[in-house]
Amino acid sequence: MRFSQMLIPTLKETPSDAEVISHKLMLRAGMIRKVAAGIYTYLPLGLRTIKKVEKIVRDEMNRAGAQEVLMPVVVPAELWQESKRWDFYGKELLRIKDRHDREFCLGPTHEEVITDMVRGEVRSYRQLPINLYQIQTKFRDEIRPRFGLMRGREFIMKDAYSFHATEESAEAEYKNMYDTYCRIFERCGLKFRAVEADTGSIGGSFSHEFMVLAESGEDAIASCDSCNYAANVEKAIARSKRYPPEEREAEKVIQRVETPGKKSVEEVTAFLKISSDKLVKTLIFKSDDRIVAALVRGDHEINEIKLKNVLNVKEIALADQATVERVTKAPSGFAGPVGLSRVEIYADHAVEHMSNFVVGGNEKDIHLMNVNTPRDFSVKAFYDLRNVVVGDHCPRCDGKLELHRGIEVGHIFKLGTKYSEAMKATFLDEKGTDNLMIMGCYGVGIGRTAAAAIEQGNDENGIIWPIPIAPLQVIITALNIKDEQVKQAAETVYKSLSAAGIEVLLDDRDERAGAMFKDADLIGIPLRINVGAKGLKEGNVELKLRKSPDVSIVKLDHIVEKVVEVLAS
Ligand code: ATP
Ligand code: MG
Repeated sequence: MRFSQMLIPTLKETPSDAEVISHKLMLRAGMIRKVAAGIYTYLPLGLRTIKKVEKIVRDEMNRAGAQEVLMPVVVPAELWQESKRWDFYGKELLRIKDRHDREFCLGPTHEEVITDMVRGEVRSYRQLPINLYQIQTKFRDEIRPRFGLMRGREFIMKDAYSFHATEESAEAEYKNMYDTYCRIFERCGLKFRAVEADTGSIGGSFSHEFMVLAESGEDAIASCDSCNYAANVEKAIARSKRYPPEEREAEKVIQRVETPGKKSVEEVTAFLKISSDKLVKTLIFKSDDRIVAALVRGDHEINEIKLKNVLNVKEIALADQATVERVTKAPSGFAGPVGLSRVEIYADHAVEHMSNFVVGGNEKDIHLMNVNTPRDFSVKAFYDLRNVVVGDHCPRCDGKLELHRGIEVGHIFKLGTKYSEAMKATFLDEKGTDNLMIMGCYGVGIGRTAAAAIEQGNDENGIIWPIPIAPLQVIITALNIKDEQVKQAAETVYKSLSAAGIEVLLDDRDERAGAMFKDADLIGIPLRINVGAKGLKEGNVELKLRKSPDVSIVKLDHIVEKVVEVLAS
């Protein structure tokens, strides 16, 4: 490929409507162009990367024993009505009518279509298990399409669906897909974690999200520094260190102190000159007609999802000011557990190990010091109610937890019989009885993976692609293409690299070296070969890796070998 002939419309300025770096760089590198909100055209460089990600995904899915199919984008409403998702899915489902006034939707995911096909074709346990996948365009009318390919409305997904006769078989396939996803993201050259996730609206009992680690990620994740435990912060288990009882301080006499106008943890601890782990926060929550108090250590954050699960309620929210005043008889900011007789008190495990701590006094401008439980108040139960923090003990091993941000690029689910039940997908077992098929589903966002790679690999000059998904592997910059010798040498290198099966872009434009280097850095091609008159006099060219500032001098005759060596390393 020659730069002069290829459509690579690089931009000097950052487009104003792009917020995250991957979106900015994909626009600037001429990889994508917006057609409408969340809808893009992939230009040649963009499409090359997309195809590379697809190839890795396809190879690994095939290797795992899955079979490729291709389902339609336009799906009849009846299938979605059968699964009951027509009403449930809401506005993300783009609904359309044909000329006969029949309703359809643009498929945002394909459980219904695949289950319908499989129930028609698979009758016997002998045909199971089966895993079918496609790489196809999805449409979700996202409320806020943004960040380019990261959250589009039209986007490419690999979605796979497996069908099983037994739970064991479904679980074995789940493990198979887990390993396959690890191989996919490793082969893409990405740093990632497989994180235990909530099963959400799809339901089921097993779910992992594959997160590419990047500061700009939307999800906060906790992972162990020594084993492979990783979970969304909302879900990560905070293991409380158990102190032997003798480590607790002797209980002191409770003391009432004036704390005029001091409400927040920061204000109270600064005023009383104590550290925040000597204070217990009392938070009043409301759930339907139930009011509860949740206690967490001053330096910890309450995790409302954990509290909600502990209480086994659907919704929970911090109580409004009026409710707080009614139950504590004090303005908010002074709530405390002592004498709070009318509400159930739940406390985080960390509070269990505290002694002589500070709490609100249920009275304006008053706090209590040297409070102890169960002496001064009783707790209904201690639970894990807080968000994990850096340095917490791993719940699985002796390691410590780290916090990262991540971008969800893949998701695996064990679905169970949710769809087979709703859509009556059954098979005959050995005894000739009808059984529901057990299902799993497994998705990879192809475009989001490419975008996540940029979030993980970039600098002030542009994209730094991992070699396996770079649009091209090598760029040759011919420094002064008008010099016949330079032109000849650049052509020779170009032809021999291409002949060796390497994907090369020859920058044959009549541009200044600086402008060519800028473009090469922006589009992020992993290897650059500079061919210039000065080097050629000695029979040399320069070789530079995009990811490092060093330039090495290589004999023109050895450049192919050298490139092959670097690409393989
Ligand atoms: P999110 O929580 O980010 O909306 P999701 O849970 O809706 O994701 P799934 O339904 O599990 O996503 O879809 C599988 C994969 O498809 C995701 O892991 C992600 O990589 C990709 N994906 C989902 N929504 C989008 C989107 N709007 N744009 C690009 N990729 C997407
Ligand atoms: Mg979504």
